[in-house]
Amino acid sequence: MFVKDEAIYPLDYWSQELMPIHVTNHSCDPNAAFNEQGMLIALREIKENEEITYDYLRHPIPASPWDFACKCKSAGCIKWIKATKY
Ligand SMILES: [Zn+2]
Repeated sequence: MFVKDEAIYPLDYWSQELMPIHVTNHSCDPNAAFNEQGMLIALREIKENEEITYDYLRHPIPASPWDFACKCKSAGCIKWIKATKY
């Protein structure tokens, strides 16, 4: 599990063979976000069996090569993720 403000993994992982960024899903109410240093930081406590999510639209680099419908079911869900605007 991660406590609030704990670093999860750096964006640098993008350049490695095993990239957790690819298995980290989008959520409109994410529990993690990248800071300006490119580190994924826990926004709140994340339990061990809880899925780590971040907002693809606030990601510093293109997180998805295509637009997609969001199914995160959060109250503030924007439903359609326009990832290709980057
Ligand atoms: Zn959503």
